[in-house]
Amino acid sequence: MKNIKKQDKQIYQVIQNEVQRQQEGIELIPSENIASPAVIEALGTPLTNKYSEGYPGARYYGGQEYIDVIETLAIERAKKLFGVPYSNVQPYSGSLANLAVYVAICEPGDTIMGQGLLDGGHLTHGWKASATSMFYNAIQYHVKENGRLDFEEIEALAKKHKPRLIWVGATAYVREFPFQKFAKIADEIGAYLVADIAHVAGLIVAGVHKSPVPYAHIITMTTHKTLRGPRGGMILVTEKGLKKDPELGKKINRAIFPNLQGGPHDHQTAAIAVALGEALKPSFKTYGKQIIINAKTLAEELMNKGAKLVSKGTDNHMMLIDCGIGRGVLLEIALDMAGITLNKNTIPREQASPFYPSGVRLGTPSVTTRGMKAPQMRQIARWIMQVMKEIEKHELPENKTERSKYLQEFKTIMKKNKELTRIKQEVKTLCKKFPAYK
Ligand SMILES: *Cc1c(COP(=O)(O)O)cnc(C)c1O
Repeated sequence: MKNIKKQDKQIYQVIQNEVQRQQEGIELIPSENIASPAVIEALGTPLTNKYSEGYPGARYYGGQEYIDVIETLAIERAKKLFGVPYSNVQPYSGSLANLAVYVAICEPGDTIMGQGLLDGGHLTHGWKASATSMFYNAIQYHVKENGRLDFEEIEALAKKHKPRLIWVGATAYVREFPFQKFAKIADEIGAYLVADIAHVAGLIVAGVHKSPVPYAHIITMTTHKTLRGPRGGMILVTEKGLKKDPELGKKINRAIFPNLQGGPHDHQTAAIAVALGEALKPSFKTYGKQIIINAKTLAEELMNKGAKLVSKGTDNHMMLIDCGIGRGVLLEIALDMAGITLNKNTIPREQASPFYPSGVRLGTPSVTTRGMKAPQMRQIARWIMQVMKEIEKHELPENKTERSKYLQEFKTIMKKNKELTRIKQEVKTLCKKFPAYK
């Protein structure tokens, strides 16, 4: 970074600080990962200078001979990796990929159905705060008290409302997505089934989560979660999708450009191609398997030590701890002080609020990339439980107006907590042994 250092000391210093934070802390946010140095290199290239509106061979600007090669490689690698006839690698991110699906197959006002945000679903699946519920008539389905999808409800809602599009996939769901069961319901009412595999794409590639390819018409994903690429999105159309509508690939392309986006981010496309190249290697399968082993080990150790896990465990890379009403935020703050990052999250049948929820969400993609295995997972579980003990006697005020002030005080108290400082030091020592970047 010699040029940034010379030219912009402020930004240089903050980037250094952030990289150090990532190096010295344990990252348990399940939507994050550590992209390889090769992926990061691709992002930092002059490809960012180029305008390439359109698609390979059909652009609105000249000078595309190399960009076309890059995008074609990304497209072909995506198709090969997932075993599908069509892919679009231009979505700026997962949310845009999802919007493009709506634009491709729905008319404004059409009925769509997705998993509610408080039940683990994503904003873009029709949540009330998302534009998707302003433009479409969004029906939301839920999970049962045990954290599993409520198929009685899903089937009843689908039959009653006959949505044009059904989303399967979520952002905080610890069990395998039953794509086949969703397909049966969608096929019965003639709906499009769209699998949003943002979180589990890497697990599917590694063969440790069922693939939606035989069941869904369209598949969307982010490239930066378990797939371990740069930030970005991708859309796939399956054979089943092309059978339902032979024009589906073209419709998706048109929805991304010109309907929603302008020029693709060519540096990002190159980085996606590099990441897909990595995911095609046998070592990626080993990585995916280890993510699951680590998640199951972490979950078991947490439960053995008395933590209450939603759904009593996990099938994938993530878990949810039920910390007690409104206590998720306290654990998030205290763990942050101990060098362990995760995020507060709602739990099924949430009794607090989304801003002060009762749970935390954590996962193993990042720590697995660093090479950590079962013994380190057990250590992390012990640290989490020690931190939980430190916050035991603290309680979020019932009165909502007092909460933000209380949290400020809580932060100050936690900053002075010797136990948290000690854990932070131990975390740092462990992280040195498993560098994020060598
Ligand atoms: C993360 C996520 C997205 C959106 O990704 P962004 O890149 O943040 O826009 C969409 N769907 C699901 C299920 C996700 O988990």
